[in-house]
Amino acid sequence: MIDASAPVSATTERVVAELRKRSAFVMVSHVKPDGDTLGAGLALGLALKRLGKRVHYFQQDPVPRNLRFMADTQYVSREIPADLPEDALWVFCDMSNAARAGEFLPKLERKNILDVDHHLGNEHFGELNYVLTGECSTGTCVMHLLRALEVPVDADIATCLLTTIMTDTGGFMHSNTTPEVLQLSAELMRLGANKEEITQEIFANKRLAALKLLGRALDEATVEQDGRYIWSYVDDAMLAQCGADGEDTEEIVNHLRSVEGVEVAALFKHFDGEIRVSLRSSGRINVQAAAARLGGGGHFRASGLTYVGALRGAVSAVEEALKAEGL
Ligand code: 5GP
Ligand code: MN
Repeated sequence: MIDASAPVSATTERVVAELRKRSAFVMVSHVKPDGDTLGAGLALGLALKRLGKRVHYFQQDPVPRNLRFMADTQYVSREIPADLPEDALWVFCDMSNAARAGEFLPKLERKNILDVDHHLGNEHFGELNYVLTGECSTGTCVMHLLRALEVPVDADIATCLLTTIMTDTGGFMHSNTTPEVLQLSAELMRLGANKEEITQEIFANKRLAALKLLGRALDEATVEQDGRYIWSYVDDAMLAQCGADGEDTEEIVNHLRSVEGVEVAALFKHFDGEIRVSLRSSGRINVQAAAARLGGGGHFRASGLTYVGALRGAVSAVEEALKAEGL
């Protein structure tokens, strides 16, 4: 049966008509940017520039060291040009709601928002919402738009798009790596995408401080539910001990998830005055639903949330939410 209450994505044709109509764009990526949010925005931005459009890139946080290989990253900033036309279209990539862009985002009118995303819990916060939950990355949503726009995909654009795929499939390891995704990736390599550089920058570029921090987090890990649940934390003191920063925490939860018998892994990142929680599932438990119970979101197998309160409270709230989802 068709669920009439489920929000419907805008058609590719409708979105492309809007992209053709507008002359200025701001591509928006989320805080703590990853290769998908940034790569998708850069790919679409580069393509729109090829069509003679004016393009800016808004991102509250600086571009992470290992994403600077993508074209146009030197133009990404939190500054908004004073002469930006009022009818510029703000294109949000890879986020369920506008708040994920951070508090530096100026107040926008809904009619100037296009939301391009692949998250299950996307809130359809734009005038147009191009939300394809079957896509492996936001970048592959952008690929559909580029095809319909008939913009040639050059090597720079192809590298951004392949980055989105490799980021969100964990280097072709997650279950969203379908035959179609591999075919698209092959096509991008033929168009000149630099897979070697992406692999090097995203998967083989670890700082010693990050590995030391991983070691500390593994030391602190707690296993529960007969080995089905594992959680750990990282705090300011551990970061300082290892000479690490927030970027160095990204991979830890995936290592926890890779432990034999684990169904759900949680990492509590308690630093810079907040608690960010990353959740990963091996496929039985829906961690998007668990995160949504606490105001977060994401995907079935990968989700996150911000918890307000003490670490002890966060640990028990997350465990309750996971149990409510069948852990
Ligand atoms: P990570 O653990 O890597 O920060 O996030 C995993 C997934 O959950 C990503 O797809 C991310 O977009 C989503 N996610 C992380 N934090 C939040 C949050 O606070 N709200 C929502 N809606 N999604 C989040
Ligand atoms: Mn994504």
